[in-house]
Amino acid sequence: MFAEKLFRAYLDFVSEKYQHEHEETRIHVHDLVRCKHKSYMETIFPEFASVASPVLFIGEAVDEFTKLLVTRFKEIFPNLESTEKEIEKTVEYDDKIITIVGRPDILLKDAVIEIKYSRLVNEEPLEHHLNQLKLYIFLTGKPRGYLIYFMPTGIREFIVEEEITEDFVKSLIDSWKSPRYEWECQYCNYRYICPHRVIPSNQDKSSES
Ligand code: SF4
Repeated sequence: MFAEKLFRAYLDFVSEKYQHEHEETRIHVHDLVRCKHKSYMETIFPEFASVASPVLFIGEAVDEFTKLLVTRFKEIFPNLESTEKEIEKTVEYDDKIITIVGRPDILLKDAVIEIKYSRLVNEEPLEHHLNQLKLYIFLTGKPRGYLIYFMPTGIREFIVEEEITEDFVKSLIDSWKSPRYEWECQYCNYRYICPHRVIPSNQDKSSES
């Protein structure tokens, strides 16, 4: 079936895009804003790092299509700097030098842009997305960042215009835990084998067996 080949290609694509080694002193932005243990699990069980979910497929498609548009229509985006550029910066934390690594979706000369696909976003952006954007502002040194949500019901744009200092990065490292948010475990592919898994209080273990 063609659909099967498409999902084979999709899984190879996301594996290439997101796979990296788990290193204590080299932290990727998308790891720092989510469960601390997950990147370790992805390193030892890479075959479960992603699933052939149509929703995730759409999210990646929106991300890549937006980047395609801004690179193709340069007259509309004359201040485009790059897409998919990996950037890193070091911070001193706990007597160690930690390298923060990130790859913002779109870099303009004066801003960084992060694209998200979501079923629904209300008045405020999701905290982990906002933290991701702030980390990109820190890495790039740009004066502002845009968080753009594509949803089935429309598009929402949030702007962050503030200086992001090392203290913000250190506070995220300080608060990094497994999971970072309790809701992460119920969507996580490692939930059946993870020693840190949190079961929501309204659900007991037997309900998943
Ligand atoms: S099950 Fe929960 S704690 Fe374990 S890796 Fe997944 S999100 Fe993290």
